[in-house]
Amino acid sequence: MSHLPPADIGQNFAARSRAATNNQDLRQGLRNAMDFLQSRRQAQFPDADELAGLRDLGEAIRRYSLARLPQLLEQLERNLTAKGVEVHWAETAEEANHIVLEIAQRHGAKRMVKGKSMVSEEIGLNQAMQAAGLEALETDMGEFIVQLAGETPSHIIMPAIHKTKQEIGALFAAKLPGVAYTENVDELIQIGRTLLRRKFAEADIGLSGVNFAVAETGTLCLVENEGNGRMCTSVPRVHIAVTGIEKVVEKIEHIPPLYSLLTRSATGQAVTTYLNLISGPRRAGELDGPEEVHLILIDNGRTQAYADEQLRQTLQCIRCGACMNHCPVYARIGGQAYGTTYPGPIGAIVSPHLLGLGTTFPLATASTLCGACAEVCPVRIPIPELLVRLRNEAQVRRGHGAGLRGAGEARRPLVSLAFRLWALVYRLPLLYRSLTWLMSRGRLLTPKSQGAWTGIRTPLIPARRRLRDRLAERADEQ
Ligand code: SF4
Repeated sequence: MSHLPPADIGQNFAARSRAATNNQDLRQGLRNAMDFLQSRRQAQFPDADELAGLRDLGEAIRRYSLARLPQLLEQLERNLTAKGVEVHWAETAEEANHIVLEIAQRHGAKRMVKGKSMVSEEIGLNQAMQAAGLEALETDMGEFIVQLAGETPSHIIMPAIHKTKQEIGALFAAKLPGVAYTENVDELIQIGRTLLRRKFAEADIGLSGVNFAVAETGTLCLVENEGNGRMCTSVPRVHIAVTGIEKVVEKIEHIPPLYSLLTRSATGQAVTTYLNLISGPRRAGELDGPEEVHLILIDNGRTQAYADEQLRQTLQCIRCGACMNHCPVYARIGGQAYGTTYPGPIGAIVSPHLLGLGTTFPLATASTLCGACAEVCPVRIPIPELLVRLRNEAQVRRGHGAGLRGAGEARRPLVSLAFRLWALVYRLPLLYRSLTWLMSRGRLLTPKSQGAWTGIRTPLIPARRRLRDRLAERADEQ
């Protein structure tokens, strides 16, 4: 979900981007963060051949999984159900929130703790819970900061990357009772930890995302560094996992290569601190774990991408964020300028399916098509190709193209006419030659002498000479 009204996402994207590029602190912070993440990733892949082989494998696993998606989802449901997990299907964000609320009401729940989940951001889960009088507290430190500030995440891996430690110190002092200002990072982390630990113990429900779901074994995999994911999924009596339908793979053997690609591409870590494998509620005799586990499989526009062979590649994404870290546009404007849950290159290709192309097509134009995103994508999603395809779909005549939601809404008749004429000229050699001949006659309109131009240029030459001589003199003096 976007924090903006849908029409605002595309309409004011340019204005938000301008504001971001004029914010020097943000620019500097983003540059430092992107340089740091890029060098961390690079250090993790010293061997180009190993990287190429691993990317081939990752791409093959994701393609294979998507090719068999309907069967794998059914297999996942069967195996999870056999282990005591309740599986729910939600076509829309509203349906998903309704299911969560229904479970919460059944348990008389009042407090929910959340692990990091971009899908929950996508469906606007926090807002839906708050509207129903349920506290939904983010426990990932970055998400906690962003929630406290009343903002949305600006990066899919590091939600508070746009904030300085001074800003976080001021935020904690202003919003957390009894907390004094500090910009010491360790102290800030400790403040958050102390507060959250109590909240885990008090929570009725723990909610998490899912990085991968294994169909054959009925296993939910959760990748994290802070341990808050493990707390959310094991301390409260009820655990609800939410995920997009594309996260399923067939075999447990598929996890290690994807996990390795994810952690090395995302934060430049060989492994994360925690890899949680969840396979059902607490069994008899076990000392901890939830009494009830639910999985909500969410479509929310993904089947639109799935229906188109080229756009389906969008769903290969493992949400590592590397495309954002290497994108020259994202590195200058940051995530919040996009106005969507998923910013950067991945946001530009996935948002049209979630929110409609009509409101999000300007995001697809926010790319130089330099190809840096595709070069680092661990599962080889051809992002520039998909961006061009979406730009095209935004301009098609209504009723033509792939039938994407909002297709053709960016079409401007005069622009379309100009491009049609251009295409016609390029198709007909005789017309092309005649027009280039005609255009070359345009040189008759240029001035006979180049005096005006050289008149400006010539005085600069002695000035440059003088400067060079002065510099040489100064060098001699030293
Ligand atoms: S598109 Fe590729 S690089 Fe970007 S987040 Fe997804 S997997 Fe990572």
